[in-house]
Amino acid sequence: MKIAIMGAMPEEVAPILEKLGEYKTTEYANNKFYEATYKGVDLVIAYSKIGKVFSTLTASTMIQHFGADRLLFSGVAGAISSSLKVGDLIVATKLAQHDLDITAFGHPFGYVPEGSVYVEADAKMIEMSKEVAKEMDKSVQEGIIATGDQFVANEEKKNWIADTFKADALEMEGASVAVVCNALNIPFFVLRAISDAADMDASFSFDEFLEKSAVESAEFVMKMVDKIVG
Ligand code: SAH
Repeated sequence: MKIAIMGAMPEEVAPILEKLGEYKTTEYANNKFYEATYKGVDLVIAYSKIGKVFSTLTASTMIQHFGADRLLFSGVAGAISSSLKVGDLIVATKLAQHDLDITAFGHPFGYVPEGSVYVEADAKMIEMSKEVAKEMDKSVQEGIIATGDQFVANEEKKNWIADTFKADALEMEGASVAVVCNALNIPFFVLRAISDAADMDASFSFDEFLEKSAVESAEFVMKMVDKIVG
């Protein structure tokens, strides 16, 4: 077994590297990949840089070059659902690309031929996350995550994404990672801690809460890893 743990930004993987203490660093494809053994299991960890293209490259590299056979994403997101507050955790049930648009040809938003609007995350790891939440005495919501190459800081855009994709949170990497894992048959899990509400104040909220929310997410993901290897 080799587990990939990825984030988009340094802040999202720093708490994981800190917990591991020792790891080997390999440079590949203009990025750094950190390998470690944790409780007898091989891990590969990386942050991709922000957005769908970099996250696609990194997820694909972790699987095809480093041999990861499952992938867990840890990071922060903007909340859509009013029940999600800063610091709260959301587990993605399925993910969609909100900025994928060939609707001019009569297709739905988020769809291209031979693709699908939504990609579903691994049901077993979602189940497992319920047990982890219970053990940690944390409330974790499940929901739909919408991904696009935009930092959303606009009520109107956020409402459009909510209506079009029934999404509960939005970010910039989840759905692209989902497409990669789905195509390569790799079970995946996307967890996000809320950093902002994707509204007018989003950039200020993001700057204030990024670090703390990233730690919340990373702690939970490491408990998931404990459960997987346990
Ligand atoms: N402050 C950073 C940019 C952050 S972009 C810089 O200047 O370098 C936002 C990152 O957090 C992305 O990785 C995305 O996945 C997530 N995210 C959090 N809130 C978001 C929001 N409101 N809209 C889109 N992505 C969001």
